[in-house]
Amino acid sequence: MNLLTASLKDLAQAVQSKKVSAREVTEKFLGQSEKWNKQLNAYITMNDKALEAASAVDQKLAKGEKVGPLAGVPMAIKDMLCTKGLRTTAGSKILHNFIPPYSSTVVNRLEGAGAITLGKANQDEFAMGSSNETSFFGIARNPWNLDYVPGGSSGGSAAAVAAGMATASIGTDTGGSIRQPASFCGVVGVKPTYGRVSRYGIVSFASSLDQAGPFSRTVADSALILETICGRDERDMTTASEPVPAWSSSIRKDLKGLKAGMPKEYFSDKLEPETRKAVEKAVDAVKKAGAEVVEVSIPLTEMAVPIYYLVATSEASSNLARYDGVRFGHRADFSKNPAESLAEFYCRTRGEGFGSEVKRRIILGTYALSSGYYDAYYKKACQVRRLLRQQFLDAFAKCDVLISPVTTSPAFKIGDRISDPLQMYLNDIYTTSANLVGIPGMSVPAGLSSSGLPIGVQLLAAHFQEQHLFNVGSVIEEAMNIKELPSVLQ
Ligand code: GLN
Repeated sequence: MNLLTASLKDLAQAVQSKKVSAREVTEKFLGQSEKWNKQLNAYITMNDKALEAASAVDQKLAKGEKVGPLAGVPMAIKDMLCTKGLRTTAGSKILHNFIPPYSSTVVNRLEGAGAITLGKANQDEFAMGSSNETSFFGIARNPWNLDYVPGGSSGGSAAAVAAGMATASIGTDTGGSIRQPASFCGVVGVKPTYGRVSRYGIVSFASSLDQAGPFSRTVADSALILETICGRDERDMTTASEPVPAWSSSIRKDLKGLKAGMPKEYFSDKLEPETRKAVEKAVDAVKKAGAEVVEVSIPLTEMAVPIYYLVATSEASSNLARYDGVRFGHRADFSKNPAESLAEFYCRTRGEGFGSEVKRRIILGTYALSSGYYDAYYKKACQVRRLLRQQFLDAFAKCDVLISPVTTSPAFKIGDRISDPLQMYLNDIYTTSANLVGIPGMSVPAGLSSSGLPIGVQLLAAHFQEQHLFNVGSVIEEAMNIKELPSVLQ
């Protein structure tokens, strides 16, 4: 068994049946990470307690004690999620020295199920970006071609799985940041329904949009991780009490009776031919498995990016007010040149602590929320968001899943879009709606482009209907099965 490319299910099985020890597995992945991280920059910080945690799993197994379903599985955790005693930076200078006194609920649940936190994954600063080029800790690279971006903002989490530097990982998705990098790196990524996963202990970007979710090599593995992290959490009042189904053991590949919708606005001439072809092939596979395919319409699709960039920046401007250099995180050096006012104290700390994309968003959001502009921008965006939600609910009255591209093209070259923010924002055209509406979404690999870069297909379902994503995703995964491996694994 090749440990680096094994599915989570097989790896967990091998550990539990003592074919391989959790320690050996962890050593292997730490070795691969050491070998490649200089080039890929998928991790910001490694967990120096990983081997200790792995040995604890082995000891439990030796004593015949029960271990969790993720026992011994090495995972990368996006640096947005607090990890007790392990530095958590959100990809920002302003948190470069922040060591959380507690762990996020997601990390507690994963570690409770036996997962080994291997390290903290690189990301765009405060998850603001689509390419992982805004990280204070440097860009992360795509394991399929090191000149290309891994996608953002959870680029490190996706690259780590694709490069065999973790069996699975966790990202966050505010407007596409799980689905896009999953698509660019050829792995599975799931953004669950808003409220499925606790946001407790996750650095806030835009609270009405943020959700954490898994990256993995297979659809069933993502289902298993989601089962572990979903569910009501008394520490996050926005978590849903909805029961968490056993998705991974209920996957059905017979799609008879299922209706799949193709939203026509997602197939405009902005879509590159190779990506269009990949989606069409996936649709054929879904038809073959018994589903009926219908065309649907979401006329407000072109409004998704403008609404998103008003709502997300408004919420971010408020959420990021807490980084003031007083209570935690970075503070400018005032020893030689003291601040003359409180305003100067904030300005100098925030001025050097935040990168330019984060500052741009704080300024945009503050503007949209300011009196005199609130009604014209923020309030209007909220109203159109409500209408967009209705259009999705209408579409889901006609079908069970929507099939679409994740982005208009595969990964782009490092440096190509970073100097043009608008161009970068337009990358989010197909992904932001799911967050605005609160529905679950998945990216599943559907082939390679002629230049050898992965292409993903996006699946969307109605609120709390994740099972449809796993069923349809499994069909596509089987039909489109990418056999090639990125060069770092050859
Ligand atoms: N690309 C989007 C942005 O820059 C989405 C980011 C995300 O989902 N965290 O805001």
